[in-house]
Amino acid sequence: MPYRKMVFVAAVAICAIAAVAAQIDPRTALVERAAWEALGKGQARQAASAFREAIAADPKNARLHLGSGIAAMLERRDRDAGDAFETALALDPKLTEARARLGVVRYRMGDTAGAIRTYETLVADVPSDADAQATLDRWRREQDLHDRMQNAIGSHFTVSFEGPAEAALAKQALESLDRAYWRIGEELGTYPSDPVRVVLYTTEQFRDITRSPTWVAGAYDGTIRVPMLGAIDKAEELDRVLAHEFIHAVVRTLAARNVPTWLNEGLAAALESNDLEWANKLADKTRAVPLRALQNGFTRFNGDQAVLAYAASARAVRRLLDEAGGFAVANLLRDLGEGIGLDAAFLHRFQRPFTDFQAELAES
Ligand SMILES: [Zn+2]
Repeated sequence: MPYRKMVFVAAVAICAIAAVAAQIDPRTALVERAAWEALGKGQARQAASAFREAIAADPKNARLHLGSGIAAMLERRDRDAGDAFETALALDPKLTEARARLGVVRYRMGDTAGAIRTYETLVADVPSDADAQATLDRWRREQDLHDRMQNAIGSHFTVSFEGPAEAALAKQALESLDRAYWRIGEELGTYPSDPVRVVLYTTEQFRDITRSPTWVAGAYDGTIRVPMLGAIDKAEELDRVLAHEFIHAVVRTLAARNVPTWLNEGLAAALESNDLEWANKLADKTRAVPLRALQNGFTRFNGDQAVLAYAASARAVRRLLDEAGGFAVANLLRDLGEGIGLDAAFLHRFQRPFTDFQAELAES
């Protein structure tokens, strides 16, 4: 599941500008500087609370609303982020940083049409921004494609597909997803109530829209996106990929934020099928991989590194599931989503320190 890194980098860049530009009363200036610094370090929670304080003292400062929005985005409070960017733009329509992020948030929330409108304005304001133009083009291609698509609607999923030739595959996908829904639901004691959107792509469409590394076989970004790859012939593979991405959707309902990648991907890899042989075969190598090194996304890895990262994560989570059950893992996720730190949440849910668990993995 690919994560986007762009937000962090940009946050650091504007941090410097904002700190210099602060010119309100000295105390607010300090609070604002601390807020940008926290953002630069990726400390979204501290940043959010500092921006709130600064906004209370200086509510007409568009930059503060921009910062507040970026912090909300990092915490996956997308609705709050969108509101903050809109406020920033109402105060200063030329604050293009806010418009760029507003587009990304709208896209992330599934509002592709709104994201496109936002980027049309952005590109008109800053014609030299080639990245924004490329993003806008990609979103337009996606929307054109989705406009052409048909839907197969089940009780828990909506599956979009392109032509009548794919109708049989969509039906097969819907059945496969339904089995995953009940199996994973029982394992974790949780059943998403809102329908999950699933889009079936050709391989080329999938690479274009998700921009994933070639080893990625499916993606979840609020929508499950899957390349078909002649899946009818490989029903087991289709089951595995759909279950994997569905587990990410379940994780999102339990914790919208603060989930380390090893836990998210490990759960998906451990429960996508009943076969963990592939990961166990790599046990000699996964022992040397500390979970702390697998916290922030796998898309930077090459294919071999990614396999190892998934194997280490899957073995770790399988152990947690065997030891304490799916309910405990689901509760760990809920705690993390509420902002409780991993060490505290782990100790509470598994009755032992995370460091012990990690040491045990290194020896097992
Ligand atoms: Zn995944």
